[in-house]
Amino acid sequence: MTPKARLTRRSPKAERAPEIYRRLARAYPDAHCALDFNDPFQLIVATILSAQCTDKRVNMVTPELFRRYPTAADLAAADPTEVETIIKSTGFFRAKTKSLIGMATAVDAKHGGQVPADMDALVALPGVGRKTANVVLGNAFDTNVGVVVDTHVTRVSRRLALTRQTDPVKIEQDLMKLFPQQSWTMLSHLFIEHGRQICEARKPKCEVCPLSDLCPSSTV
Ligand code: SF4
Repeated sequence: MTPKARLTRRSPKAERAPEIYRRLARAYPDAHCALDFNDPFQLIVATILSAQCTDKRVNMVTPELFRRYPTAADLAAADPTEVETIIKSTGFFRAKTKSLIGMATAVDAKHGGQVPADMDALVALPGVGRKTANVVLGNAFDTNVGVVVDTHVTRVSRRLALTRQTDPVKIEQDLMKLFPQQSWTMLSHLFIEHGRQICEARKPKCEVCPLSDLCPSSTV
């Protein structure tokens, strides 16, 4: 039997992918959803608020929001001005308020107040796209339907040459082909963590990166 060829940064992406996952899982054993939530409703609200905003900032405003509006019915009936005041620091607060109240109204009217655990039903809710739906399905319902592709996942996947795409939906399709379905939710947590800690946008720390020998973009 011939020994297995050593993986390098020139190896095909399908061969590098499992080792990339293994190393990131070892590097970030505590990777998880950084948004605070106790149920699917809280997570969908927090995810809508996280657009163009840090998770840390979202976690600062959600306790008050959830205290004032604990259910979809409560948020559906909210005074928009009050919601805007609470969420103002997350940015785009008028559009986000519209999305939150629209989403809550639909959840209350069409789903009996329960966030649906279904991709098609989720993306039909106002203000909910595939990314938000993937966050909710993966983290509140433990269902791996897709991969959350945010700015970190986009950057890390492209630098690792796991995709050449720039459109999040196409990047997601490439990643879904490379990694087993049961790992999809954790995959995005790992890439996000790696993007925050090592593979930073402006100056990636390739010299301390555990993937540098597998990464075609490595500077070392
Ligand atoms: S080697 Fe550099 S570019 Fe590649 S994943 Fe690591 S930090 Fe990012």
